[in-house]
Amino acid sequence: MKVAVFSSKSYDREFLCAANSSVGHELRFLEVRLSPETAALAMGAEAICAFVNDDIGEPVLQELAKLGVQLVALRCAGFNNVDLEAACNLGIRVARVPAYSPYAVAEHTTALILALNRKIHRAYNRVREGNFALEGLLGFDLRGKTVGIVGTGKIGEAFARIMAGFGSKLLANDLKPNPVCEALGVTYVSREELFRRSDIVSLHCPLTPETHYMIRSETLPQLKRGAMLINTSRGAVVETPAVIQGLKDGTIGSLGLDVYEEEGDLFYENLSDRFIPDDVFARLLTFPNVLITGHQAFFTKEALTNIAETTIANFSAFVDCGCATHEVSVEKIAGPGR
Ligand code: NAD
Repeated sequence: MKVAVFSSKSYDREFLCAANSSVGHELRFLEVRLSPETAALAMGAEAICAFVNDDIGEPVLQELAKLGVQLVALRCAGFNNVDLEAACNLGIRVARVPAYSPYAVAEHTTALILALNRKIHRAYNRVREGNFALEGLLGFDLRGKTVGIVGTGKIGEAFARIMAGFGSKLLANDLKPNPVCEALGVTYVSREELFRRSDIVSLHCPLTPETHYMIRSETLPQLKRGAMLINTSRGAVVETPAVIQGLKDGTIGSLGLDVYEEEGDLFYENLSDRFIPDDVFARLLTFPNVLITGHQAFFTKEALTNIAETTIANFSAFVDCGCATHEVSVEKIAGPGR
């Protein structure tokens, strides 16, 4: 299959080429993000491969359909950046990688919690400057603290296992309980109760109309005062200006983010020789109790290997039988369990 791979970085090339070595699809790597302005670069391709910050809205899909593209293969789990209805109407199939390493994201979430709690980012800088004072570095034991998990699918479940190991009390909110989590001792409660009781709130739900701005100025006062908030799901689950206000007035004690609503203009690029064009993001960076990583929770060797192998398998299945192995469609997401 002829494939145009958008937003590709050196590591995408490395892992996709390795997975494709015995298969032989024709992969054309493009560094640019997919957008209405760049969609024409897919000319000659039967499929495109895209990532989290590519724009796969209706205008892009119309352009891809005109070029004869039949398959959009996402090399990620989330598909909030795709207009599935438009794809369906245009006869373009959409595939994704539903699970590549929930452990990668769950472990990164834990890294954010530990670093924020024990102020590792501040301690690292202090020690390098010969400052061994402990003032300002006080943390708390995770054992016995209440951790609230919103979304207990694959990642939420892996995260629950880790936090159970710390001896934390676990609360969760989901559309339906996960029996594995229940067996771990997770108690399912309403979202409001989870917010009210949790010392740490960690978000692991997809971005949907229902979860959009789940954390906003109206819901922030529901949080336990001084709680730690962690978002490794999708940026727009959190309304950033509201969270900045929460950090200023102490509602939020600390904030760990791997995702940001406007990350498409920042993440995966090296802007160190320029300036950060986003004033809201720049404001976030001024807080000592905020730790941000650039959508890297998935970024382990195991995850990249699985992403590449599943993506190549999606192309092969499409060639063999006309449909990819892991397709997403409007009907499927409207079905049970979502
Ligand atoms: P999943 O589909 O296995 O689990 C998602 C869970 O969220 C499901 O149990 C679902 O029922 C629940 N959910 C849906 N709507 C909800 C709502 N309104 N309230 C509460 N729960 C709700 O997905 P997953 O593999 O665990 O991934 C979760 C999310 O993590 C993805 O959608 C993606 O946005 C994000 N993600 C981030 C990274 C990263 O690198 N930061 C990597 C992979 C996935």
